[in-house]
Amino acid sequence: MSLDDFTSIVKDYDEPKYRAEQLFTWIYKRNVQSFAEMENLPKQLKINIANNYLLNPLKILKVTGTKSATTRKFLLECNDGEKIEAVLMKEQKRITICLSSQVGCALGCEFCATGTMGIIRNLTVGEIVAQYLLLLKESEKPITNVVFMGMGEPFLNYNNVIKATDLINHPEGINLGARHITISTAGIVPQIRQFAKEKQRYKLAISLNGSTQEQRLKTMPIAKKYPIDKLIESVKDYYNARRKLVTFEYVLLADINDSELDAKRLISLISDLPCKLNVIPYNEIGGKFNRPSDEKIQDFLGKFINAPFTVTTRWSKGADINAGCGQLVVS
Ligand code: SF4
Repeated sequence: MSLDDFTSIVKDYDEPKYRAEQLFTWIYKRNVQSFAEMENLPKQLKINIANNYLLNPLKILKVTGTKSATTRKFLLECNDGEKIEAVLMKEQKRITICLSSQVGCALGCEFCATGTMGIIRNLTVGEIVAQYLLLLKESEKPITNVVFMGMGEPFLNYNNVIKATDLINHPEGINLGARHITISTAGIVPQIRQFAKEKQRYKLAISLNGSTQEQRLKTMPIAKKYPIDKLIESVKDYYNARRKLVTFEYVLLADINDSELDAKRLISLISDLPCKLNVIPYNEIGGKFNRPSDEKIQDFLGKFINAPFTVTTRWSKGADINAGCGQLVVS
């Protein structure tokens, strides 16, 4: 809930507006897990609110990875029994959490475990923010980065994802800077345009995974609805409107998109756009795709030495516990 939502709740109980600010602080800044802990609120107000509202809509069912591990995966249960996953990753001073935006996903990308579930439902704003708050409690250090790369396509739950992100970014609450928050889409063109039009300050990542329309179609059915030329055009328009670098994610699949020709086509596809390319060697999920050999990965990366954009490689964290990119699934 936003500060405005809290304001109307406390008004219903004939309480002054500052009570809304107190509630907001207890929940988002102090991260309390019960109304009883909110010491400066009147007892009756706490009882009334507790009778009508749920403070935490998620519970942790299972944690994979020990407290000292660099990656921990959390299986979370929603109030209606649906399950989602979120991942906490440590890398020196950087603590990143990967959040889910939907239960399952409709897009069915061939290389992705979540895609095999189909879509069950969108997550609510509360369920998205609660992932952050729960993982923060589990983290030894403050969270420095949020990525929407968990289960689901964030831009097919656009309004809730943006509202949740605004709460994570709110200066009076969690206060995580906009440039530390990345929303990754498989290429939902109308929402990329909406994101640009609304001048959203969060970072945008595009899951590209192919250098031609035909190739993209082999792994990403959504490419049929939003072809690669329309996708690139929308990203260029986004850049021209916002002047913010976009990151292209490229899951590297053996013998599918890892050839020298792919590297060349990729360079010509995105070279005239200020951007970053993040190459993600595939995390196998027991399906039809394989991860290229280390030699092949290095060969592919070597083709970008003179590319006019930065290239990074994400040696996905958590592949050993099925918490790597594209490995999140619940049954
Ligand atoms: S990669 Fe993302 S968009 Fe594609 S099926 Fe998996 S969760 Fe959905």
